[in-house]
Amino acid sequence: MFRQVKRKTAGRKNFEDKPSINSSSETSEFSIPKLFTSRLSFYDLPPNQEITLEEFEQWAIDRLKILIEIESCVARSKTPKDVELSIKPLLLKYLPLSPAVNLDEKSVIKERMKDYYSHFILRLVFCRSEELRSKFIKNETILFRVRYNLLQPKEQQEFVELNSYKLSWKYISPKEKNELIDKFFAASGNILKQQYIADSGDTLTLNNEQTKQMMIQKENFIKLPFEKITQLVSSRSIYLQDGFGYLPTSLQLKLLATEFQNNLNQILIKTFQAIPRLEEDDRLLPLLNNLSRNFSSCQYEVDLDNELTSDINALSVTSKQIMSHYPLCASHLQKNLMTSSHLKYLGRQQLGIFLKGIGLNVDEAIKFWSQQFTKNGNMSQETFNKQYKYNVRHQYGLEGARINYKPWDCATILSKPKPSSKEYHGCPYRDFSQTQLTQSLEEMGIKNQQDLNSIMDNVGNQDYTIACTRVFELTHQKEIMSAHKGTGPIIQQEHISHPNLYFDRSRQLERSASASADSNKS
Ligand code: SF4
Repeated sequence: MFRQVKRKTAGRKNFEDKPSINSSSETSEFSIPKLFTSRLSFYDLPPNQEITLEEFEQWAIDRLKILIEIESCVARSKTPKDVELSIKPLLLKYLPLSPAVNLDEKSVIKERMKDYYSHFILRLVFCRSEELRSKFIKNETILFRVRYNLLQPKEQQEFVELNSYKLSWKYISPKEKNELIDKFFAASGNILKQQYIADSGDTLTLNNEQTKQMMIQKENFIKLPFEKITQLVSSRSIYLQDGFGYLPTSLQLKLLATEFQNNLNQILIKTFQAIPRLEEDDRLLPLLNNLSRNFSSCQYEVDLDNELTSDINALSVTSKQIMSHYPLCASHLQKNLMTSSHLKYLGRQQLGIFLKGIGLNVDEAIKFWSQQFTKNGNMSQETFNKQYKYNVRHQYGLEGARINYKPWDCATILSKPKPSSKEYHGCPYRDFSQTQLTQSLEEMGIKNQQDLNSIMDNVGNQDYTIACTRVFELTHQKEIMSAHKGTGPIIQQEHISHPNLYFDRSRQLERSASASADSNKS
């Protein structure tokens, strides 16, 4: 799809002479480049090493997966602590940033490079409109906060010192801290006490002396001219002396995040102004357009060898037990197929390859469709074989161009024409009337008015996949809690961007919850 050979372009910087992280000649004597000294970054300097087109795309997609999860958590009103819990496993999987002591130098640089470049690639993707910019800034700032909290106190201090050229923060000495600790406690003690208790998950009880001791252990104070921290001064939450405010570590993050956010806002506008220059490059623009078109361009990969699929056959897919794991789009399609013994083309495609994705093999699929189409006597087996069998085999790549079709993700489903009368494809969160959707949600067991309202709010904002993720959470609350209490594997609660992801997560949760129930009995 893209030219792999580098093209020299007049007026564009060509980086042939720069050493590459991938070049074997330099593997033996690396030292971590200044750009990647810290695990956290304000991303001030643009990167200038070469990466391949595959890395360009894959790194951007991996970062996007994390930003999508953050967006989804915020839309579902998760607390900062819950957002952190949700994205930690994703960070480890897609964008790890290991401390330099835990890995060899080359791997450390590679991880940091991926983080750095992916941020810059997504700047190109999300700088094009006010709406995209504000989404990107909001989610990147949350990511920055989470990552800052994951740093060791020493690393936090090193990060601030590394950025002293823009922050002009000055740490006070341990001696000065000990001399002023009573005053710091009087000014910030209450706020910090509440924060320590909240961080411990409300398991700590602290008296004043214990709080003071924790402040000595945990807090590194910086001294700032009071006009830079007017908000904190006016809320009387920090100690002031001679025109300087003393800010403990726990209150510094807010300031850092504001700095990060303002920086990014300014730079995204500049990036947007520079975008026309990219138009000379016919390799990158389609890629960037594709990434910005929809957050859910990150594909969920359907695993057809999954052990959970072994019990899927023509009969079991019509059972309540299996259908209880379907998302609303799939259950709506299948219920209507089972009642009317027919589905029009788009419905057959959407349901057919969804079923293929959950593990229905081609022979069982032919059996399933022929039973459903012929069971009320409106169609003979012969007609089915003549008119529809080919279509089923085609879905499995056994006819025509022999394409092994993948199940549609939510973005693909939402990009198809809306269903007209007697059609049932599409996404019910978009296509149902409010009354029909409320009724369906109630049938799924969601009766609480507040929950229903929050789902309707998501639908009103056209956040259909967020509504679906919320429904998944509400309808699987028991299993999620029980699976997490047990000894079974923790099932990652991801944003639902694919009907088959919904199905797989639902089944995994059921298995995990029953495994933990078994282990509790024994
Ligand atoms: Fe199906 Fe996706 Fe709509 Fe959920 S959001 S109902 S999985 S299309």
